[in-house]
Amino acid sequence: MPLQPGRTVGELRELRELTGDEAGAQRVAWTDTWTRAKEWLSGKLASLEVEEETDEAGNQWFTLRGESERALVIGGHLDSVPDGGWLDGALNVMAGVEVLRRIAEDGTPPVTVRLVSWADEEGARFGRSLFGSSAASGTMDDQAELRERTDASGIRWEEALREHGVDLDRALDARGQLEHVVAYLELHIEQGPVLESMGLPLGVVLGTFGVERHQITFTGQAAHAGSTPMDKRRDALAAAAKLALEIRGIAARTGDGAVCTMGSCVTKPGIVTSVVETATVLLDQRHLAGETLAAMLAEAEEAGARFAREEDVEVAWERIWRIDPILFDEALIELADEAVTEVAGQSHRLPSGPLHDAAEVARAGVPTVMLFVQSLRGLSHTKLEDTKPEHLELSVQALDRLAAKTIERLAAG
Ligand SMILES: [Zn+2]
Repeated sequence: MPLQPGRTVGELRELRELTGDEAGAQRVAWTDTWTRAKEWLSGKLASLEVEEETDEAGNQWFTLRGESERALVIGGHLDSVPDGGWLDGALNVMAGVEVLRRIAEDGTPPVTVRLVSWADEEGARFGRSLFGSSAASGTMDDQAELRERTDASGIRWEEALREHGVDLDRALDARGQLEHVVAYLELHIEQGPVLESMGLPLGVVLGTFGVERHQITFTGQAAHAGSTPMDKRRDALAAAAKLALEIRGIAARTGDGAVCTMGSCVTKPGIVTSVVETATVLLDQRHLAGETLAAMLAEAEEAGARFAREEDVEVAWERIWRIDPILFDEALIELADEAVTEVAGQSHRLPSGPLHDAAEVARAGVPTVMLFVQSLRGLSHTKLEDTKPEHLELSVQALDRLAAKTIERLAAG
């Protein structure tokens, strides 16, 4: 039987009925609803000749044995944020199901083909994203901290994991799953407005942005709002405000998708009758090229120092978090471009702002690529998240083409 992309759309609606409510998708990892979704997924693949297993980190694997144990993996995640969208993560998995059906019905493939539904991509309940994929890739190194984490109702993560058959001490054993994996493919909704604004259904993802995140504290002098002349002030907020505007220029001058966000500003004493003594701001900067990201940071630091001098205040930077850009595989990007062009007539290459499980797999050294399908209004992590059904169907076709091309390439080499 040929590929039936319409079946994927129907199954996604079925999943929405089963695990959502009027507020949106409720498949938060390590909950009963998530378990229900996983059991439903098993049922969808029960009639195929695939082996199912759940690894030490709670990732759900379906393996179609091929002539070689070298494996192509297609991945996604069934977990959602609370009140989430119906497509984020689930499209990837259900498109993978349809591709796996098509490959299985074509007979034994030359390489092994596996579908993985990663555990806890969103980190919605315990605040740690990419749990399952970072365990499989071996980059997880925060188990000691994870052990102490609790959810909003005080339940320890370690306990919630144990209830779902996961022992934190053994989670990294999931690394064995990537042993024979030679290619990884992931389809995802874009979760941003770029493809829609270009009028394109599909795009090829070049990689995920590197991120530099800093807390910057400007320190001046509190002084009476009535008795302190304007030219005698050491106003920390004035310096912070200049920087807040300057980062827009930094992003614009850098281009290539560069983004800078000042997401928070806290002032003290924070009363209307005093000049601001300390202004503490949070800056997030992202770019796909590591050197460019470093230059953006240097430019922001230089600007911060200049504004501090101008306002006669002190400035201190503290890094909160960073991650290097993760670039996807050149050869797979080429194949993905071909697949998208064949299916949609035109392709477009774009970076991903959000991180994805694919980034963890790529960090483990597995050649990886992602496809994006247009998101309406660029919305995600809300029940308003949506994509046109015809675009969903095109995305299943493109993933299938890409899988076929990748298998052909792997079989030849
Ligand atoms: Zn996702």
